[in-house]
Amino acid sequence: MAKASAKSKKYVYFFGSGKADGRADMKNLLGGKGANLAEMTNLGIPVPPGFTITTEVCTLYYKNKRRYLPELKKQVDSALGRVEKIMGRKFGNPGNPLLVSVRSGARSSMPGMMETVLNVGLTTKTIPGLVRRTNNERFVYDAYRRLLMMYSDVVMEKAAGIEPEDGHGIRHKLEDAMDKVKKAKRYKSDTELSVDDLKKLCDEFKVIIRKTLKKDFPDTAQEQLWGGISAVFQSWMGKRAVSYRKIEKIPEEWGTAVNVQTMVFGNTGDNSATGVAFTRNPATGENMFFGEWLPNAQGEDVVAGIRTPNPVNKAGKTEDTRHLSSLEEAMPKVYKQLFNIQRKLEKHYTDMQDIEFTIEEGRLWMLQTRVGKRNGQAAIRMAVEMAKSKLITKGTAILRVKPDQMDELLHPGVSPDAEKKALELAKGLPAGPGGAFGKVVFTADDAESWAKRGEKVILVRNETSPEDVHGMHAAEAILTAKGGMTSHAALVARGWGKCCIVGCSALDIDLQTKVIRVNGHTLREGDWITLNGTKGRVYKGKLDLTAADPEHNRWYKDLMKWVDQVRTLGVRTNADTPNDAAVARSYGAEGIGLCRTEHMFFEADRIKSVREMILSDTVEGRKTALAKLLPVQKGDFTGIFRAMKGLPVTVRLLDPPLHEFLPHTDAELEDLAKDMKVPFEHLNAKNKSLHEFNPMLGHRGCRLGVTYPEIYEMQVQAIMEAACELTKERVKVIPEIMIPLVGHVNELRKLRDLTVSVAEETMKKYKTRIPYKVGTMIELPRACVTSDEIASAADFYSFGTNDLTQTVYGLSRDDAGRFLPFYVENGILKEDPFISIDTDGVGYLMRMALEKGRKVKKDLKTGICGEHGGEPKSVEFCHNIGLDYVSCSPFRVPIARFAAAQAALKGKPGRK
Ligand code: PEP
Ligand code: MG
Repeated sequence: MAKASAKSKKYVYFFGSGKADGRADMKNLLGGKGANLAEMTNLGIPVPPGFTITTEVCTLYYKNKRRYLPELKKQVDSALGRVEKIMGRKFGNPGNPLLVSVRSGARSSMPGMMETVLNVGLTTKTIPGLVRRTNNERFVYDAYRRLLMMYSDVVMEKAAGIEPEDGHGIRHKLEDAMDKVKKAKRYKSDTELSVDDLKKLCDEFKVIIRKTLKKDFPDTAQEQLWGGISAVFQSWMGKRAVSYRKIEKIPEEWGTAVNVQTMVFGNTGDNSATGVAFTRNPATGENMFFGEWLPNAQGEDVVAGIRTPNPVNKAGKTEDTRHLSSLEEAMPKVYKQLFNIQRKLEKHYTDMQDIEFTIEEGRLWMLQTRVGKRNGQAAIRMAVEMAKSKLITKGTAILRVKPDQMDELLHPGVSPDAEKKALELAKGLPAGPGGAFGKVVFTADDAESWAKRGEKVILVRNETSPEDVHGMHAAEAILTAKGGMTSHAALVARGWGKCCIVGCSALDIDLQTKVIRVNGHTLREGDWITLNGTKGRVYKGKLDLTAADPEHNRWYKDLMKWVDQVRTLGVRTNADTPNDAAVARSYGAEGIGLCRTEHMFFEADRIKSVREMILSDTVEGRKTALAKLLPVQKGDFTGIFRAMKGLPVTVRLLDPPLHEFLPHTDAELEDLAKDMKVPFEHLNAKNKSLHEFNPMLGHRGCRLGVTYPEIYEMQVQAIMEAACELTKERVKVIPEIMIPLVGHVNELRKLRDLTVSVAEETMKKYKTRIPYKVGTMIELPRACVTSDEIASAADFYSFGTNDLTQTVYGLSRDDAGRFLPFYVENGILKEDPFISIDTDGVGYLMRMALEKGRKVKKDLKTGICGEHGGEPKSVEFCHNIGLDYVSCSPFRVPIARFAAAQAALKGKPGRK
């Protein structure tokens, strides 16, 4: 044991018999499970007594080379003594033994990622005592059989760092041995195993364990207990926990707690049961008590999905579960007690709870309560309904929905028309709504590697285990043959808002040959299937998906109304076409923050004129070509201004280097030469003359406007003519003309003068006046540093954080994808700076630019139009530094509105 650092520190927190050392707000120290067990105990809810070893011990354990402080043992012994007193039983005592469970419990729930050992304390010495007390020999040997299986797998193999090949682990070997007995005796289920079968099996298990793991199964209660505790701590650094933490961004320093708790048994006979339930439906959000239970079973049976469970009440029955008996019908008194407890818990925690319970000989015990995972649709509905019933405030409702959950609502479903014509392969439980198609794969590793090479896949498994999380994450959707709505697959998928169907029992999966037989059809690896996770239907082939339809979701609409009342940050969109503009408006965009004009140049009817312009050697030649482009550009702007119905529209003048518009292969060049009636050599030479070694830092942005002013003149004329003509039609237009990639104020001054002169001239020609603005993008570090000069020539700033990130970091935005993922995976960078703003570097310069700019021009309008404008954390940053608006792609507009409201609620004042 390592040396003690602080003598009297408390590492063990007791709970039991209405009194607990801990509380719900001690999650960091006790883990979620431990804190809530303490809270439930204090609320007078029946919880089997036990104690929690703190997360601090986990951290110290790793710090001290996997050794414990000496006082830990003392504290554990003393807590165990209190448990023994309440229960009137003794741990390891042959006459009246106490059995305990040993479970993990991190700060935030990591379903199934870490280890649990049940029935700890059963040894050859304590077995007879338990048989005497329960008068049920079969039950005791079944419990011992489970202990042997679980403990050898979790403690003796996994925690010992043994990594057998797939299918060769100790658990597999023991399951095989059990299957052999069942087959020989033609048993269909485990419950048919007799006492003699179980006794023989336990002996055989011990032999297999010794042979495989070269160790005897521990036969003292203390050894089992400490083995279990260590295994839980070890599992914190286990492969699957590490990969789950990475995905969920849970820091390693948090550590896990260990909960040691009196065993209560749901498998002592028909008067016992176990179940998992939610205080509201986690898939739809409906306010109904919703759950599953299994008579005569242990908790692992429900969660592991080995048996498909029954609905907890009549209201929760579906077409597929109508024939099963609910707890409400089977044990009405216990159900009523459970119903009242779950109401009490939801009211106390003011959020939907996910609870686990066991009924032992008709007596109800609560084993766990925690805030339940939910998908996006459910999260929104619950939040809104809870706010309307005054359980929470509107602000809490907004903060409670995660931006990703909002995103889910904007995801597609299966097209009903396609579904009508499709070949239905099977039905299952609708665990994660939405639609998805993909190619069938059978292992998590395949799912990951296929997805990496760009394939859409659906992971099909008998049941998922926590070892599959990386593949589940990579897959479009998950389909399992076994398991219920609270199985591992369902919980994990729901947490991620992923389409998922579980308990699809018609699937007969042959992992060896990678073939699925299902209702007379055969599916092989790589075959397309489509899932409707909302209805639980599996279809052959690749069906059309429909766009999400949040506008018909009344809870979403209510929430977004509240969101707009709260936020102070404006939300605009990046749109280059009238159609995109209209979509963005329908999603609540308050203007266009970036209209990129180069995309318009590529359209078939105009690329020829663009190329003519580029290829001409004289200003006159260029002007002739540009004159052809003027009316079409004007048409573009007219369409966009009209679609925006009087909202401001920021049009950016041409940005990319000209060579991007020329063809790149000889064959294309030859074609073009023929079309344009110019010699191929001429075209080729021009193409070569435009070549740049580093075009991103080359002749692009305002540098084009400075050297070829006629291009910008044409664009400004097109913008202003469109605006003038619409004004005459009484359509309100607010054009904002934006100059890209400015590094020096002189570039902006020159181009501002050009813009103003063309604009004035055009308005004079149309005899009208339009309130237009001239501003710049801030995309270069020099622009930030000299912002006090630049602001003098700009009416507004829009931060182009794509280029700003590229130039601040010196990272090519086109090439960084090759190594940035490595940086993120290895913790060199917390996040890809092209996804979420690098607040310390890029953000620092943004703040500087704002401060300096506003000193010169108090009412300088500021926004952001890089991809970060739709990313929630970056939106929060933009709010905090006091930008006026963010601008993002049309489909991100609701997320940005929502993230802006959350930022406002988190307390920073924003611009106003
Ligand atoms: C930017 O650089 O952030 C920007 C919006 O411009 P683009 O992506 O077109 O370079
Ligand atoms: Mg840019």
